[in-house]
Amino acid sequence: MTVAIYAGSFDPITNGHVAIIRSGLVAFEKIVVAGLNNPNKTSLFSVDERLEMIREAFPGDDRLEVDQFEGLLVHYCQARGVRVVLRGLRAVADFEQEIQMANMNRHMSRDIETFFVMAADYFFVSSSHVKEAASLGGRIEGTVPDGVAARLRAKFAT
Ligand code: ADP
Repeated sequence: MTVAIYAGSFDPITNGHVAIIRSGLVAFEKIVVAGLNNPNKTSLFSVDERLEMIREAFPGDDRLEVDQFEGLLVHYCQARGVRVVLRGLRAVADFEQEIQMANMNRHMSRDIETFFVMAADYFFVSSSHVKEAASLGGRIEGTVPDGVAARLRAKFAT
């Protein structure tokens, strides 16, 4: 079975992430969405909340597995026996960072291939901008799944 790992912070998952996962499902039989559990990085949502929101965005899809990982992505891929990493590209800024990361991962593990999907409709969406907009009472509907928008509003309700 062709399996790809799509890793990220997903703090929280946005419609941009959802679109990349849907594109990935066209090419791969299964996608493992892996939320980074990094105790040194402060996140708005706990790792459990972040994984729950990913699951809620894909109800009943058995081609999707939601998991968490710590440490290096290449080590997680090796532990899972998966050779494909899926990433999304929004803008030139993403490209520079992603090409470095993909090549660093290749340097650490020759077995791992990174596949990129171009962002389309949601190229302007990032978790950090959505959080900032939500914290200031801005309109976030349409940038994140409905359940995520509700949770963001609840987080910032005064
Ligand atoms: P990190 O915090 O590790 O950068 P993210 O969750 O922000 O992780 O992103 C994970 C992956 O999803 C990256 O490849 C990123 O470029 C991609 N991505 C994030 N937002 C979008 C979007 N709106 N459209 C397409 N790809 C995206």
